[in-house]
Amino acid sequence: MKDSDWSNVIAHVDCDAFYASCELVRYPQLKGRPVCVLSSHHAIVVAKSYDARALGITTGMPVWEARKIAPQAAFLAADFRYYGLMSGKVFSILRRYSPEIEIYSIDEGFLDMNGVRSLWRRSFLQLADDIRLAIRSETGLTASVGIAPTRTLAKMASEANKPDGILVLPASHIDRFLYHQAVAAIPGMGRNRTALLRTLHIHTASQFACMDEALIRQLLGRQGVTLKYELNGHPVLPLETIPSLPQSIARTASMGEVSGQRSLLAAHLSWHATRLVSELVAKSLLAQRIDIFLTLASGETNRVDMVLEVPSNSLKRIMGVVKEGLMRLFRAGERYRGCGVVATRISQQRSATADLFGLMQADCRQTTLMQTVNQINRKYGDRTLSLARVQGIRPRQVLPRFCYPLLIAR
Ligand SMILES: [Mg+2]
Repeated sequence: MKDSDWSNVIAHVDCDAFYASCELVRYPQLKGRPVCVLSSHHAIVVAKSYDARALGITTGMPVWEARKIAPQAAFLAADFRYYGLMSGKVFSILRRYSPEIEIYSIDEGFLDMNGVRSLWRRSFLQLADDIRLAIRSETGLTASVGIAPTRTLAKMASEANKPDGILVLPASHIDRFLYHQAVAAIPGMGRNRTALLRTLHIHTASQFACMDEALIRQLLGRQGVTLKYELNGHPVLPLETIPSLPQSIARTASMGEVSGQRSLLAAHLSWHATRLVSELVAKSLLAQRIDIFLTLASGETNRVDMVLEVPSNSLKRIMGVVKEGLMRLFRAGERYRGCGVVATRISQQRSATADLFGLMQADCRQTTLMQTVNQINRKYGDRTLSLARVQGIRPRQVLPRFCYPLLIAR
């Protein structure tokens, strides 16, 4: 392998059929059966194992249709908390191989591998295999690994050899690889762009990579030109190693009943606010605006925006504005079906500057308390510790729209 092959090195690691594979790790007795993971109302298939896909089950398919195709399949309720824990395990393995990591999605990440080869004294093929085997032995999941000079090529490489595969793509092999890839296989090339290129008789990634730059710019804009460079092995897209801040974090739900009771709304809003604060604390984030809304029986929504004195993740401060919001919104005699709390103007806790009156310092003590509550609830289950006023409400019953035997995974 020539050094000119690796002026830049990016790895892309992608777990195979992640949600369904997580369920197979938890329920090994399901091995050999197709597995479908269902949406929150058990109406739609949101993920499936390779066996289920081979039978023709697709993501988004209604469960009754999937059940007709594969009556022998296991249908499971999605458990995103568990998938999050498994994802954390996968990324902790990836961090061993590179300090520079982009968490692209719950089961996909990019690794900056520049300099890593000499550190480990292993070839890129060996490193890719090490990563794959570590994920398999430590989590029970399989993953595919692509290594290439750009992130676009690395993603295409891992995709090309799925499941449980490896593809290492040095610069000198790019042309041959692209020759066998369809335009639709290029990440970021949507259906419309693919159709547009087809009218110009551009069918393969190789044909696209050779297209005139001015023509690409005219047809697809700057993003198209970026893809051309990336496909030719010139890195343009950097890894986003610092995750971007969310625009908003929301905790909302129907109450499971229609009620005009103010105390019931207060209990549900307290529960939403507690979960919202718990997420802000877990991610070391602060919010400065809290939107509170109530949904009437008619479906109409009333909302109020409350601005906090300082950016905060303090339960006391956020509960204070939620209570005030409820006071402003609630009308006696009206009947309500749902409510919610949304945090916006979100910032990183570590980049916050102290305010003149020491309000933020006081909030910090609350953060420590909430971290302890989070730890206890994570260990012993949701609501082991919660506010007294929340204890009165029952967790919302999830009513399966279709009465098929479900293995509820919690
Ligand atoms: Mg995946």
